[in-house]
Amino acid sequence: MKNAIVVGAGMVGVATAIHLQQRGWSAALLDRKEPGCETSYGNAGIIQSEALRPYPMPLDWRELAKIATGRTNDVRYRLAALPHHLSPLFRYLWHSFPARHARVSSAYAEIIAYSAREHEHLIRESGARNLIRRDGFRVLHREQAALDAAVAAAKGLSETYGVKFSVMTSRDLKKAEPALTDGGIGGLHWLEPWSVSDPGALVSAYADLFTRLGGCILRGDAQSLVQRSGGGWSILTENGRIEAEAVVIALGPWSPDLLKRFGYLFPMVRKRGYHRHYVGGSSLDLPLCDEAGGYVLAPMTKGMRITTGAELAKPNGKPDLTQLTHAEQAARKLIDLGRPVEPEPWLGTRPCMPDMMPVIGRAPRHCGLWLHFGHGHQGFTLGPVTGRLIAELMSNQAPIVDPIPYRPERYLRIPIYSGRVFRLEAGHRSDLEPATIPK
Ligand SMILES: Cc1cc2nc3c(=O)[nH]c(=O)nc-3n(C[C@H](O)[C@H](O)[C@H](O)COP(=O)(O)OP(=O)(O)OC[C@H]3O[C@@H](n4cnc5c(N)ncnc54)[C@H](O)[C@@H]3O)c2cc1C
Repeated sequence: MKNAIVVGAGMVGVATAIHLQQRGWSAALLDRKEPGCETSYGNAGIIQSEALRPYPMPLDWRELAKIATGRTNDVRYRLAALPHHLSPLFRYLWHSFPARHARVSSAYAEIIAYSAREHEHLIRESGARNLIRRDGFRVLHREQAALDAAVAAAKGLSETYGVKFSVMTSRDLKKAEPALTDGGIGGLHWLEPWSVSDPGALVSAYADLFTRLGGCILRGDAQSLVQRSGGGWSILTENGRIEAEAVVIALGPWSPDLLKRFGYLFPMVRKRGYHRHYVGGSSLDLPLCDEAGGYVLAPMTKGMRITTGAELAKPNGKPDLTQLTHAEQAARKLIDLGRPVEPEPWLGTRPCMPDMMPVIGRAPRHCGLWLHFGHGHQGFTLGPVTGRLIAELMSNQAPIVDPIPYRPERYLRIPIYSGRVFRLEAGHRSDLEPATIPK
């Protein structure tokens, strides 16, 4: 029997481990915490079947000026942190231009289209139906120009991919959500996405399914991973060292740090986000994105959860509550929010690759090393389908979608000996990233 260690027990790692186990592998899942305690716990809990185009960087100078001068709450940066982000951000910008973004989006749309179906299998097998609502989520707008642009974009998605949505007046919004004291100027209802009342609990339910399938979950530090001289991989767990022929790196935002040790330098745009729960006030029926306020307000088991937009902070930089404070002030104008539950808000990091696509595939210079990270804004949605994709690649099965757009080599110029000359790894050359030569 083939065996593998999956490091990282977020949505991405847990789903990978299940798919490997289901394909006849003997899989172990390793994390330094319980499954689903980090990014996969703290998100807005939306399984975003409408997110067929990944978020590009704004190219409009007015939008950029708003970000630069701190006049928007959905993106915030700290000047001192910018040097840490400039290189990956520049690449992100490069991929945000319309022709490149369209190319990325066509692959993204293909994989997002399978995401809810792949969750459905796991929801059914894990018995987690009680955590799921299948009634979509709503977006509230305060500016006519923004609403018009959102409706035009939604119509485009509907014509191309058949996505279902409805336009709502301010009155419609208040009727659908009686707790709202202000319906803005109206908004949209995305009808097909699902919402989860406790994202961490869904990952735990999937992790329990994995153990029922015969997999084992272990505690340990991924930094103890070593390649064995005779082949295969070994890692230290609380129960001693374990070995396997293959290892999958699914450490979300921590993946590039570990991979540096093996000579792979992956650029990543780390977009921080915060959340806090509120109880004792009124509650919404479905998640609501306050577009102008730059946050999502979602009814969850622990209360109403506010999740913030993206903050570009220094790695390990102190929490900056500006975005959450602004979001809370805006939310208090919409509903009776009640009081905060946690004394300190949660913070986590969206692991975004500069081309907005996750990294999925074999590491080119190490036998048995597989990479599965960088799911950005939609990792909670994508985990089960990309977990299936990497398990299929590892098992030499026909992949659910074309794996080429996700290949790790797009970030690594690998010298390959062919005939009498070394050449750089070929691929879709026009897509190649500016080179990072591994040291
Ligand atoms: C505010 C916010 C809102 C979001 N909303 C949504 C949403 O509505 N829908 C959506 O689809 N996505 C959303 N996302 C994105 C989504 O949450 C992430 O893309 C996804 O959770 C990433 O999953 P992951 O498994 O790759 O990473 P993680 O869940 O972070 O898992 C990585 C795991 O690695 C472990 N680990 C790290 N270092 C080590 C080590 N040295 N040793 C052992 N273990 C280690 C961690 O403990 C962790 O369990 C949101 C993100 C944020 C921040």
